[in-house]
Formats: sequence, structure tokens, C-alpha cells
Amino acid sequence: MFENSPVEQYNFQGLPFFLKRDDLLSKEFSGNKARKLYYYLENNFPNIDTVISYGSAQSNSMYSISVLAKLKGWKFDYYVDHIADYLKSNPHGNYEKSLGNGMNIHEGSIDKNSIDSNMLFIEEGGANDYAAYGVELLAKEIIDWKSQNSLDEVNVFLPSGTGTTALFLSRYFKLNKIDVEVYTTPCVGDVKYLQKQFSLLADDISLYPTILESSKKFHFGKLYKENYKIWIELQQQTGVEYDLLYDPIGWQVLVENKELFSTQLLYIHQGGLIGNESMLPRYKRKFDEK
Ligand SMILES: *Cc1c(COP(=O)(O)O)cnc(C)c1O
Repeated sequence: MFENSPVEQYNFQGLPFFLKRDDLLSKEFSGNKARKLYYYLENNFPNIDTVISYGSAQSNSMYSISVLAKLKGWKFDYYVDHIADYLKSNPHGNYEKSLGNGMNIHEGSIDKNSIDSNMLFIEEGGANDYAAYGVELLAKEIIDWKSQNSLDEVNVFLPSGTGTTALFLSRYFKLNKIDVEVYTTPCVGDVKYLQKQFSLLADDISLYPTILESSKKFHFGKLYKENYKIWIELQQQTGVEYDLLYDPIGWQVLVENKELFSTQLLYIHQGGLIGNESMLPRYKRKFDEK
């Protein structure tokens, strides 16, 4: 359904790169989570009438599942630890849009015993084996693009949360002996956390992506002046809007490791722009001159 996102060519701080525009896959259902949830979109589940997941009250995953549920006519129950009072009284971003799609949000934890055969349970961030289905379609699009453009070697870079996307991409290229190296960096947790996430999805470490680490430690969802700055510069130099949670960390790491990317670099734009509706006002309040 949402295949073949375009590849465009840009330059950032003297580093030439190709950009895989997964943010353009569809208006509603775009980016990383469209790839990871594609299996559910493409297949029929006659016995399912409810989808259940959990995570944060502003997550991209929550929003994408709300779109999926709406398309499928499923009920969507989503569990969060806590919803900030500010968000409750002033709904915006992924939270507002998910409610608009009919999501039922619950504060508290899921009772796993209450999950019945009519219910589909999706892990936080969509991290499960079914994600491989859509991520491998992405891998195939990259392979087609590489051969159409007669590129011998390609380095793919994408920032990681659960690491599911980077891992399944890398696994596919390596198992099929394609000359594409996948690089990533952890945005949630540290290198150890990311390696642990990989190991939950695949045993063979020879199939894992290469992890690069930023020299500075960033905490997920916190605001950093240098991340805001690089996000603005990216937009100025490429004319493309990036997400504020993952992409600034990814680009800090890329800029620090420029020498590794002298061969063709393909950066994956994984969407997440609705999340900017909540992140950008926070950044503006904190760092813009009054
Ligand atoms: C979810 C998400 C990621 C992280 O994907 P993982 O497969 O969990 O590593 C990166 N960027 C954006 C915009 C996302 O929404």
C-alpha cells in the first residue's frame, strides 16, 4: 500500500547524503511506525476486534496504532503510567490526534490475564518479529534504488529507539549478502540497552548494525540546546523538517563521524513530525529569545 518512498539528495555541513523520505509514505500513517505496523495493515485478522498497547502519552507508536485501529475498525486500548495534568487540560500532538481517532487511554498497567483471543497486543514501540515484514520491504526498496543508481557500496544511517528497524534492516542486507552497512545510535538508553534490545529480536550478533555513540549523553525526550540548533540548521540547509526526538541525536553522531561516511550515505527519515507539535513549543519556550 505505502511503498517506494522517494530518495532525494542533500548536503549538510559539507556532508553529502541521500535521504529516504519515509516521512512521505502517507499523510496519516508515515515513517517508522508505518513500516513496523505494515504487517497488521496488510493482513486480515477476522477474530480481532481490539488492539492493545502501552507506552508514553505522546508516543509516535501510539498515534500510528490509533490510525491502524481506525482503518481496521478495531477498538484501541492504550495504557500509560501517567498523563500530565497539562496534557489532559490542553491536549495536543500525538495524544490529541490519537484521541481523535477513538483511542481509549488508561492510566495504569495492563492486566495481561485480561488479554483475550479477540485482542491483538502490540509491544511498546512496535518492537516484535512482525515488524520485520514492513522493514524488509524498506530494505528491498533500498536495494532497488542502489542497483538503479549503480552504487557499489551504501552506508545506511538511522537513529534508534527500540532498535527494531535498524536490526531488521541490517539482518536482511547481511543474510542476502548485499553491500549495505547499517549504522545507528541509541536515542533511548545507552549502547548496552540497544545491544540488549537487538538480542531480544535476533541471536546472531554478526547480523547486528554498527552502533555509533555520541560524545555527549542525551536523555530521551529532554531538551538540549545543541539538538535544537542542529535541527534548525538541518531544516535551513535541506529544506526538510526532521523530528525533534531522534534526528538531532542521529545528526550529532553523523557530524562527529563524518570521516566514516565518505562513501554513499543514505539517511532514513523516519517521520514522527506530529511529535514536533509537542516538542517544538517546549524548545521555543526554553531557548528562543523573548
Ligand atoms: C519510533 C521511531 C524511531 C525508533 O525506531 P525503532 O525501530 O524503535 O528503533 C525513530 N524515529 C522515529 C521518528 C520514530 O517514530
